[in-house]
Amino acid sequence: MATKKLSVFAICAVLAFPLFSQALQIDTVHRCLYTGVFFGTQPRQGSNDAEVEKMVDTICQLAGVDRASFQVMNARVSSVAAVTDAKGKYLLYNRGELKSLMAMRRPWAYFLLAHEIGHLHLAHSLDARKRIREEAEADRFAASVVKKIGDFTSLDVLLEQVEAFPYSYLAAYPFKERKTGISTGWNTAEALNKGLSFGNNPSDVENSPLPRFKKSGCPKECTLNTRRFEGCAVLGDINFRICRALDKQGYTDRRYFAVKNGFAIVTAAEQFRAAPALSSIAGNNRWLDYPPRPSFDGVWDYFSKMFFPDPTYFRVFVFVVTNQSALEYEPGCVSVDGCKEWLQRGGNVLPDYLAKQSVNGHSVRGLVYEFRAEESNKQAHEECRLSARAEDHLQKAGILDQIKK
Ligand SMILES: [Zn+2]
Repeated sequence: MATKKLSVFAICAVLAFPLFSQALQIDTVHRCLYTGVFFGTQPRQGSNDAEVEKMVDTICQLAGVDRASFQVMNARVSSVAAVTDAKGKYLLYNRGELKSLMAMRRPWAYFLLAHEIGHLHLAHSLDARKRIREEAEADRFAASVVKKIGDFTSLDVLLEQVEAFPYSYLAAYPFKERKTGISTGWNTAEALNKGLSFGNNPSDVENSPLPRFKKSGCPKECTLNTRRFEGCAVLGDINFRICRALDKQGYTDRRYFAVKNGFAIVTAAEQFRAAPALSSIAGNNRWLDYPPRPSFDGVWDYFSKMFFPDPTYFRVFVFVVTNQSALEYEPGCVSVDGCKEWLQRGGNVLPDYLAKQSVNGHSVRGLVYEFRAEESNKQAHEECRLSARAEDHLQKAGILDQIKK
């Protein structure tokens, strides 16, 4: 009996040793654990799996993700996880769990990996306080990736599996809400696919795979100096310069819309300091979180129950790239819920047919929508009386200086 115990122990030790040889030297505080709640002790690292790595490569290629921007590690996690620390970004996976998923439900294994890669690619903080917004974005990213891979026969089949598989953040972010993000990601990918195969015409906004952007309300507006876009040959180059500047200043959450012969980029609503500062608020109160919790009555109710020094100002930046002299206008005010909807409806990427269009008399307009939440009732409304110019907003937000060759 004693010998048997000992030999079992010996076999386990021999098996375990090469699989998990060393503790991961990473800080796991900022993370998304798809299943399971804790790492327990420091996760240990094992040898990587070539097939999993290949799946990761496929996802990166399809989604335009820089594969070298994160490390992939077989580690003791319950399924998959994304972690960021001061030294880098990590995609962790449980080799045994993923192998069995790959054998039984390969499309689902792709979804799990894509969800975590989404967190890393979208530069998420993986801070528990930003959980809902970042989970929604990772879901949307993953849904658009699996739609492109094409293994899921339908959105319903994907949703069935999402609902059936355990998920760590279900209490904060229930399935009913996840459905929205996942459906948006799937439908956007579908629309882009269709758009490409139909050979889109950039002046045909009606049939663009992107939703249409129309100016409304009272945004402040300016035209950016053309020197900032010197050397840009196609619209994709202009897009690159704007996005690089937005990334540097933390505006990673944004969406694409169609305008005649061009496109618009809309950023998430951000809290800012009133004039003359006009700078972004530091820390976690900067971004409007969405979607709101079901127990709150809309996003502003949700916001009003968080701590804010009052009154509170929010702004949304829109960059419009077109060669048209006037923007389409729709009368009426813009609500913050309207802006939230922009983020839910817009495309995640600039479609190829637009990115490849030659620059031909195009200019870049910067629009700034301002909102104010009153101290008395915390009701937010579009603020048309503020005197700050669009240039000042762009300057003080640090965006303008970053748009350069
Ligand atoms: Zn996640």
